Amino acid sequence: EERSFIAVKPDGVERGLVGEILRRFEARGFKILALQLVHPSKELLGEHYKDLAGKPFFPKLLAYMQSGPVAAFVIQGKGAVKIGRAMLGATNPQDSAPGTIRADFALDIGKNVCHGSDSVESAEREIALWFPAGLKP
Ligand code: ATP
Repeated sequence: EERSFIAVKPDGVERGLVGEILRRFEARGFKILALQLVHPSKELLGEHYKDLAGKPFFPKLLAYMQSGPVAAFVIQGKGAVKIGRAMLGATNPQDSAPGTIRADFALDIGKNVCHGSDSVESAEREIALWFPAGLKP
């Protein structure tokens, strides 16, 4: 069944939103396949955000993502990627629909609380990157 990689970014962890965000995915019916607090290295983040390497905000993005632990998890269920993105809301919280995680908990694109894979291919790539030991307990 389809899987997606979801992460609560350091601002979300710091604000105590991990439980609430996990709750929403569980309540929607997704299975949590893996769950870990990670202090991502520059190398991991460079790979994760390789498409953004040339952007002016890239150095700030890396510093933000290293400002504390990230709660990384894998959800599994029908439409995990598309529904996962819909539950997060638009990248810029100013544009996120009410009821989405970003609209309910964020105001600033530079601190938008969470990440979700944008395609099945990037989900598989990101799961391998953030869970290099695999998903089996
Ligand atoms: P994510 O990959 O985190 O789910 P996304 O795929 O919705 O986000 P991207 O365009 O890939 O959006 O941007 C990745 C992340 O980079 C955003 O979530 C945000 O944290 C940061 N970012 C994007 N645009 C800006 C910006 N203009 N200023 C500051 N940070 C930004």
